[in-house]
This record gives sequence, C-alpha cells and structure tokens, in this order.
Amino acid sequence: MGYFSVALSIASLIFLVIVFIVFKSKENIKSIQLQLFSKMLLLTIIGLCIDVYGFFSFKVFPLDSLLNQFISRFYILFYFLWGFSFTYYVISISFDIENKKKIRLAAKIIAAIVGLIIFLCPINIYSDGISTYSYGVSVNLNYTCSFIFIIIMLYCLIKNIKKIKSKQYIPLIAYIILGTIVIIIQQINPTLTLMLFFQSVIIFIMYHTIENPDLNHIRELNLAKDQAEKANRAKTDFLSNMSHEIRTPLNAIVGFSECMLDSSDLKETKEYAGDIVDASKQLLEIVNGILDISKIEANKVEIIPKNYNPREVFDGLRKLVLPRIKEKPIEFKMVFSPDLPGILHGDVAKVKQVVLNVLTNAAKYTDKGEIIFNVNCINRMDTKICLMYISVKDTGRGIKKDKLETIFGKFERIDEDKNTTTEGTGLGLAITKSLVDLMGGRITVFSKYGEGSTFRIYLEQEIISMEIPQTEEKDEEEINYQDFHDRKVLIVDDSKINLKVAETIMKPYNFEIDTASSGIEALECVRKKSYDLIFMDIMMPKMNGIETLEKLKENEDFTTPVIALTADALEGTDEKYLNIGFNGYLSKPIDRKLLNKIINKYLKG
Ligand code: ADP
Repeated sequence: MGYFSVALSIASLIFLVIVFIVFKSKENIKSIQLQLFSKMLLLTIIGLCIDVYGFFSFKVFPLDSLLNQFISRFYILFYFLWGFSFTYYVISISFDIENKKKIRLAAKIIAAIVGLIIFLCPINIYSDGISTYSYGVSVNLNYTCSFIFIIIMLYCLIKNIKKIKSKQYIPLIAYIILGTIVIIIQQINPTLTLMLFFQSVIIFIMYHTIENPDLNHIRELNLAKDQAEKANRAKTDFLSNMSHEIRTPLNAIVGFSECMLDSSDLKETKEYAGDIVDASKQLLEIVNGILDISKIEANKVEIIPKNYNPREVFDGLRKLVLPRIKEKPIEFKMVFSPDLPGILHGDVAKVKQVVLNVLTNAAKYTDKGEIIFNVNCINRMDTKICLMYISVKDTGRGIKKDKLETIFGKFERIDEDKNTTTEGTGLGLAITKSLVDLMGGRITVFSKYGEGSTFRIYLEQEIISMEIPQTEEKDEEEINYQDFHDRKVLIVDDSKINLKVAETIMKPYNFEIDTASSGIEALECVRKKSYDLIFMDIMMPKMNGIETLEKLKENEDFTTPVIALTADALEGTDEKYLNIGFNGYLSKPIDRKLLNKIINKYLKG
C-alpha cells in the first residue's frame, strides 16, 4: 500500500509544480487570499517532496537516525502549517481582515510559536517495512490543533451561512466532505496515508474556483463592467430627466412668445410676457441646479469661508421667502436663540443656499397654517465653535414615510399629481444634502403625511464674536433708476442677442450706450472715445475679455472701471475676476438689482 501512496504523492507533486509555474507566470491581483493560496501551494509542494523523499529515506536509513527524525518532524510541522493557512484562508473570506495588520501579525506569531513547539516535542516513528507513520506528543498536539481549526472553520461556515452559495466556499465544503472520507479510509487502513493527496486536491479545487488568476481578472472585469453600466444608466436617467425638466419651461417660453407675436392686444401681450418671465426664471433655476449638481459630483465645489452676521443673513432669507406666501393664510414665525453669536465664520453662500431651499420648500408645500423658522445653537467657547441647528417646521402637506429617503435624490419629486401646480425641479434637496455634507453638517427630516414636516440642519461654524453688530435696514425691493444722461457706457459681447438684452435693460438710465461685438472692436471704441464704465463679456472668440482688458491696461491713462460679464456662474468667480483686474463681476442673465448697484457705484458723483 505504501507504493500506492508514494505514487499518488509523485503524481500530485508533478501536477502541483505545473500549477505553481502557471500561477506564478500570470499577472495577478493583490489580495490576502491570493497570498495565502500562493503560500499553501508552495507548502504543499514542499510537503509532497518531504513525503516522497521520506518514503525512500525510511527504507535506507535507520528509523531513529537524525535525518529520519528531522523528516518526521518537518512532516508534522507541514501538516500544522497547512491546516493553519487553510483556516486563516477561511477566516479571510468570512471576515474583512484585508487591512487589519495587527490580526495578520498576531496570526504569524501564533503560527511561529505553536509550529516551533510541535517541531520540538517528542515524536516516534513506526514502520512495517512498507508503510511508515509517526505518533507521540508532537503528533497528538498536531491533532489537537487540527481539531481547533475545524471548530473555527465550522464557526465561519455557520456565521456566513447566507454566503455559502458563493464560489469562495467550495474549497471549504470540499475540505469537510473529502476530509471525512479520508479520515474514514485511514481508520480502516492506517497505512494508506491519503492526507497529502487530499490536500493537493483541495489546492487544485481552490485554484479552479477562486484563486485562478484568470477567474480573478474576469471577476474584476465584471465588477468594472457592472459599475460602468450603472454609471451609464444613471447618466442616461439624468439626461432624460434633465431634458424633460428643461423642455417644460422652454415649451412655455416658445409657446407664449409665438402667442405674443400673433396678439395685438397690449394687456394680453403683457400677460404673456409675465408668463415668459416666470418660465425663464424656472429654467434658470433648473440650469443653476444642474450646474450645482455637476460641480458637486465633479468635486469642484470648494468651501469659501467668510465672516458673516447670522441674524442679518437669516433675516434676508425671510424677506426672500415672504413674497411666496403672500397670498396664502400662513403665519411665518422666526425665532433666533439669544446666544446666537454676532459674527460667525463659514461658507455663508452655501449656508444661505441650503436654508433658503428648505424655507422655499416649506412655503411651496404649505397652503395654510404656519411656518416656524428656528435658529438654535450650542456655543463651545473653548474651541470657539458654534453648533447651529436650524429648523424649519411647517403645517403643509407632509411627506409619506416611505418617501422620506427618496426626497434627497436627484429629480425626486413626490406626489407628482399635486406637484404639477407647484414649480420645482426635484434637485433642491439633493443639492442641499450634498452641500450640508460638504460643510461637515447633517440634515434630517421628520414628517407626518397630511400634517406637516420639520427639516433640521446641523452646522458647525467658527465663532468670531458674540457681540451683535448694529445693522442698518436696507431696502432694496424697488430699483430707483437714476438719470445718467451725461455718461458713456460701452458693452462688449460677441452675441448680438446678449448685446440687445443688455442695452434694453440699461436703457432706463438714459446714458449713452455703445456696443462692440469683439475685443478688437472694443479697443477701437476706447481709442476713439473715453467711457465712464465698460461691461466686458469674457468668452469671446479670437480675443477674450481677459486679453482685451490686458490690452486696455497697457495704456497707462486707462482708468475706466471694467465689469466682467459672463455666464460662468462658478463659485468664487467674484474673487477670480477681481484678482485678474476687473472692477466687478456680473453673471448672465443679468440681475437688475446687482446691475443697479454697480451702475450707481461707478456713475454717481
Ligand atoms: P422641488 O424642486 O420639487 O421642491 P426638492 O428636492 O426641493 O425639489 O424636494 C423634493 C420633493 O420633496 C418635493 O418635490 C416635494 O414633494 C417634497 N418636499 C420637500 N419639502 C417639502 C415640505 N416642506 N413639505 C412637503 N413636501 C416636501
């Protein structure tokens, strides 16, 4: 029977050497399982070599010779290390230990200590001339360890019973089934040592189920393919949603404009114009929302902290929201905690944007009752941090429990049937959540369908001063057009339609307006005439606005203020253009109130 065992070992050895060469010749991914597999493969080859060599050595040299003693000890050590590695392998597929360096180090230390003890313990060798096997303390210790390994493996198996269908568990299941068969056979015939052959079979199964480099690459490729498909689907959904959202107001603009062309009644025409303005504002909101989302997703949004007076900021937001509830029987209450600091430091533009969105939603989705806007805070004076919690509670239509999670998704609008009369893009809360996350804050929502909702935003801001600064009441509601008939203004833009819009908006100021449709034309105009103010588009072919400004500034006598006029509505652009040398910045479409401020600043006096 000993000859049969050694023949099996030699066959296994040849086969595993081939597997080893193939395995090493292929490029592979780095994982703890692969490292273990590689070690086990090598270990099995060494074990097989010892086995084959031992078969001849035990025949040629006396059993108690030093060489045979060593071979028997190595043999037992090999069994222990193999069992240990396989158990560790099972642990690694059952629990995430990929990045746990301490566990890996502890495993190595345990393996080294126990391995050494097994190697040094007394051992006896039995031989009947054909078959040889060992017994004694070292062998018994090895059996005890094997028993512990089996218990650990069974625990992993039970703990991950749901994952059992995963291919990764095939070697473990094979180990349990084949192991039982081998033990039974060896009980019947102890001279038939099948253990090494059994281990080689397990290694072979592992290679062809989980640790095959090709399979690993295919698995990685499939994962990448799934991710790419998912991203592509999300992009398609986003585009189709976006197309729908943009077409809706655009359709209204085109439709009403055509009606205007056909109508000769002034009152009717004005009504159409009003509708066009509403649809345009909605379109602008969508475009801004999409820009915001794209910037957030491309990680292009930065935190730009500034000092601000929170009372003034939140009061400004109240003023913006009030017109929305003007015609509804809603009471708007605003409560500030008395210990709200006077000056805070943080990204005030983003704070405004997120709070305004939640306030606007409350105004949009509430028909009667009240909206309570509450700003509370906890001040930690040692770290100079103010934890603001801003809550907006309404008695509106509320949100169904199962929809609470989805409202923070892109283009998620719920109760579409009711929403048809309420304008919105479904982007607001997605942007709000992303911005709050970006600022390191948190947003929560509590709602009862039919009764109302409460949105809470938690933000940490730096405390600059507790003292409340005195602020003058500013009323910017109405534009007061001043007469600047003796002033000259130049507008530079390559788009004829934009020139026409700018010219029409500035007409009420009564100043002399010249237009230039390129940078070169602008330089020509400035050479001929001296202007009091220049509005300069940035994106122009051949010579852009920045290059034109540089050319203008080459003349030392040039002192005319130049305002950048651009559709590049990126955060922080204000500073960007001021740094370049512009005196101010206006984004398109032009906000009349901001334009009025600039005109008064540069043309008065
Ligand atoms: P929208 O532009 O549609 O308002 P949001 O992302 O701001 O988009 O909100 C998503 C959806 O969440 C809204 O369409 C609305 O159905 C629901 N929602 C948001 N705020 C409230 C609120 N205060 N009360 C009831 N429903 C709300």
